[in-house]
Amino acid sequence: MINNRDRKPIILIVDDVPTNLKILALALGNDYEVVAATSGQRALQIVLSEPPDMILLDIMMPEMDGFMVCAKLKEMEAARHIPVIFITAKNESEDEIHGLALGAVDFITKPISPTLVLARVKTHLSLRAAYQTLEQRNADLMDKEEQLRIAYESRLAINQLLETMLDPVSLKEQLTVALDIIFSVPWFDLQPRGAVFLFDRAAEELVLSAHQGFEVSHCMACTRIKPGQCWCGKAFVGGAILFSPGVDARHEICWEGMQPHGHYCVPIMDRDQCLGVLNLYVPAGHQPRPEERIFLSTAASTITGLINRRNLEEQLDQQAKFDALTGLPNRALFHDRLNQALSMAIRNRRDVVLIFIDLDRFKLVNDTMGHEAGDRLLQAASQRITACLRTSDTVARLGGDEFTIILQHLTSPFYVELVARKILEQLARPFILFGEDVSVSGSMGITFFPHDAADAESLLKNADSAMYQAKKEGRSTFRFFTQEMQDQAMLRVQMEKELRQALDREEFRVYYQPKVCCRSGRITGMEALVRWDKPGRGMVAPGEFIQLAEETGLIVPLGAWILENACRQNKIWIEAGHPRARVAVNLSARQFQQGEELIDTVASILAETGLSPEWLELEITESMVMENVEQAIATMRELQAMGVRISLDDFGTGYSSLGALKRFPLHALKIDRSFVMELPTDAEDVAIVSAIISMAHKMNLIVVAEGVESTEQLAFLTANECDEIQGYYYSRPVPTDDFTRLLQENRSLWSEQTGSVRA
Ligand code: C2E
Ligand code: MG
Ligand code: MG
Repeated sequence: MINNRDRKPIILIVDDVPTNLKILALALGNDYEVVAATSGQRALQIVLSEPPDMILLDIMMPEMDGFMVCAKLKEMEAARHIPVIFITAKNESEDEIHGLALGAVDFITKPISPTLVLARVKTHLSLRAAYQTLEQRNADLMDKEEQLRIAYESRLAINQLLETMLDPVSLKEQLTVALDIIFSVPWFDLQPRGAVFLFDRAAEELVLSAHQGFEVSHCMACTRIKPGQCWCGKAFVGGAILFSPGVDARHEICWEGMQPHGHYCVPIMDRDQCLGVLNLYVPAGHQPRPEERIFLSTAASTITGLINRRNLEEQLDQQAKFDALTGLPNRALFHDRLNQALSMAIRNRRDVVLIFIDLDRFKLVNDTMGHEAGDRLLQAASQRITACLRTSDTVARLGGDEFTIILQHLTSPFYVELVARKILEQLARPFILFGEDVSVSGSMGITFFPHDAADAESLLKNADSAMYQAKKEGRSTFRFFTQEMQDQAMLRVQMEKELRQALDREEFRVYYQPKVCCRSGRITGMEALVRWDKPGRGMVAPGEFIQLAEETGLIVPLGAWILENACRQNKIWIEAGHPRARVAVNLSARQFQQGEELIDTVASILAETGLSPEWLELEITESMVMENVEQAIATMRELQAMGVRISLDDFGTGYSSLGALKRFPLHALKIDRSFVMELPTDAEDVAIVSAIISMAHKMNLIVVAEGVESTEQLAFLTANECDEIQGYYYSRPVPTDDFTRLLQENRSLWSEQTGSVRA
């Protein structure tokens, strides 16, 4: 190449005749550096060691003629492009054609004219220079074209990545699409296999957040990676792109079926903070190119943008939905949640309760102690309110000192009242603000959907006006929206007081209802049913007060009282010589949940009254057992071990599985009255009842039908081998003396027939 302008071009002259060499050297020596060779062999050696810029080649030479030398030169990679001019004595066109075919550029005929030689050499050298420049330009152009293509395709991919930012999909989905886009870059020999790991600050681990082409075993091996672990962990710590052409000693995590591979681990940097790692697979032994790194770092920055945008969106979303001061849902989110709760309630035919709370004296605190104290008070109050509720309930701050609560799951007025009292109690406790004790309180309005209103807006209005009513009536209190609800609430408060008194004043009575054997008509047992002999009102049925007693905890002393009375009375009947019958006492959920305490109570009552345990039966319901199956089984086993029988009351109304039933140490099943009521006309009830009977018998359980009122019912049950009945057909629940008479009347059956009570 003649790109070096400081040196003279080198001309190699090849001729076996020294005189010719001399003439040529003389002609060219001034302008060029001349190298001479007297044989073809020698010429080839020189070309190899120091390639000239042009060769003047004599045709007629011994051993190797010029044509042969030329042919050899054209075979040599280093010499192929060196222009060759033949020097010939002949002037025959045949030679010229042959020479040109071999690739020579020109002919000079002897005798040599120095001027001509010089002119020809000069022309061809400049022609060659021009040609070389052209070739170089061409190569440069092709290079440029390749670079342009790479740049264009990279740009295209980055643009696509930027576009995915706008997709309204999850971050995981966005990252998965991003991986696909990166794999599709045509110039980059990536495998369609890779992942994005994001750093979990709390766990201090990289978490596999999106992936493509990973098998299950691969995902499992790479779910979480510690900083510094394996290639990805190292790239995370180093904050720079790592490339490995294969699986080597630094590749720490392996999985079943792992193939040889190389990969790029590209940190996803947000300034000097690393958010995660982009992990991309290449074929094993891949030769990295500089443009790959450039592209990957651009792609990683784009992903940084994507993540940051997502975080910002989440932050904005949080700001749009939550109150910055308390972290509670704000008015907008509250409306969403309320509407959601209402549509769910309509679908499931359930109630929703809306409570409106306004802090009393908040304004005073704010005005006298300053806004900061006011803010702290709101934060503390919101925490106290939240602590009184279940996580499934919604507490929101509407603004100022106004809070709302949505209850969706436990909506019985009693529970709501309980919650309201608890919150009021909590708000009435002094708040300590900047070292000072501050007393505020809350006023609450409570309203029920769908009872009080049909839509969210009216419901909120109701709750608000009920709250104002509470404020008017002296604050630190709650009011239900409707008078009727309010009356009931007052009634409950009153009733609770009366129930306590009733227990002290012994106003409760135990009634007994016989259980009768279907076949023999004999009384085999009786259920003890409580009544409240309320002064001025007469006998109150348990339906009116048991739930309240249960909810207030009064059921525990009341239940013990009933149990003791029933046991004592049964002992009296047995001592009096009546046929022995088992007395059944209902247990409430509260009592049953007591576990050990219940066992103790039962044991001491049996000991005190002297009733043998085999003449006591305890009735529990399915829901009581299903709440905590293991504990229920333990309690039941202990009772059974004492010799007390257990029966399952109201069977069919709960959700106990037959499989679970098998595990309970039960004596009898009582079919709920609702299934008996329409026997034998209702085909469905017929099917259910006969199925329950045969199933219970397979489990060796006695079957008692509740609420039997008619001969037809009795006939059906007897035909279907039901063991016992209980119901108005035979007798209503009656006071002790009446029951004694029933026992007496029934006695004749015992002397007429032989047989015994099924145990
Ligand atoms: P339960 O244990 O299922 O009691 C049977 C209920 O059905 C009794 O109502 C009984 O009077 C009624 N009944 C019996 N035969 C017939 C009939 O042929 N037709 C109709 N319509 N009803 C019939 P009661 O006495 O009003 O008791 C209601 C519920 O109150 C009981 O249902 C029980 O769950 C609870 N209860 C009653 N006494 C006690 C008690 O001492 N302790 C506890 N924890 N709960 C009790
Ligand atoms: Mg019962
Ligand atoms: Mg029952």
